[in-house]
Amino acid sequence: MNPFDAPGEWLKSALHTHSTVSDGTLPPDALVQAYVEAGFDLVAITDHWRLATPALRDDVVLLPGAELGFDMVSPTYPRQSAEFLVYGLDHVPDDPGGNRDNWLVNEVENWEVRTFPSLTVGMDWVASMDAVAYVAHPYWNHLPQVELTSMSGFAGIEVLNGGAQAECGRGDSSPWWDTLLGQGRTAFGIATDDQHYPLYELGLAWTMLRVRERSPEAALEALRTGAAYFSEGPALYEMAVVDGGVEVACSPCRSVLVQAEEEWGTSVNAGRDGRKQGRILQTTGDGLITRALVETPPNLRYRRVTIVDAAGRRAWSNPL
Ligand SMILES: [Zn+2]
Repeated sequence: MNPFDAPGEWLKSALHTHSTVSDGTLPPDALVQAYVEAGFDLVAITDHWRLATPALRDDVVLLPGAELGFDMVSPTYPRQSAEFLVYGLDHVPDDPGGNRDNWLVNEVENWEVRTFPSLTVGMDWVASMDAVAYVAHPYWNHLPQVELTSMSGFAGIEVLNGGAQAECGRGDSSPWWDTLLGQGRTAFGIATDDQHYPLYELGLAWTMLRVRERSPEAALEALRTGAAYFSEGPALYEMAVVDGGVEVACSPCRSVLVQAEEEWGTSVNAGRDGRKQGRILQTTGDGLITRALVETPPNLRYRRVTIVDAAGRRAWSNPL
């Protein structure tokens, strides 16, 4: 289902953020208020191994969330583990069954790590609650791609973690995504700010969920089915597979790129010298693209779109 053709509305969603329930700096209710003031429609607080329970309010959708850990099959260094984000859970397990050597409690910074024995075992626990999970920041966690592709049960991965990108340049995990997609796997993406310090991180990136109604259930369904796009700035308005390629309408951008398996991607770029594998159909007065047709080869395994605005900020579609 193409979310751009689906009935309903878009929810600007914060899907990875921390409160004082773990190592964030704002209490849950103040954190929700900060997102509402920043124009968000949905907040999932994802504290480490603890459930934050902000007060319900009618101007924002609240989705229960948490950030949990798992043991890695072949860690690169001692006590290395990785993490996933889970939505729609009703509790956090006291003993998820992983390797105790990987567990730790940091009382000064107020966070802890427990682990499931593997990502797939964690996903079995997620499925038992009918919850939905995305693998968190695989590049930042240094999760080997071969380990990610050997595991199953997750809806997708956190393709862009804005906090990790700002902190150390390891927030963009799109190579992990393309590895899954290139193998023919179904995997969706999200972008987040992984906010701990609102001044530096709140709103660095977000996910737009296409929902039939403003409810946690509808948001979970969008996460489960990939009815979404995600962004660190620009907006996608329309997207369609047409004869010969992909047609995109968007906020003003300098590039519209289509990624596919191996080297089969193509792009259209603004400016006289910009490479154009397709056609620019509409521009702003200063030549930025607002509608384009990107030509693509036939019979691709998957196609996904990335747009880049004049400031270099990107937005990503899920595979069409
Ligand atoms: Zn986090």
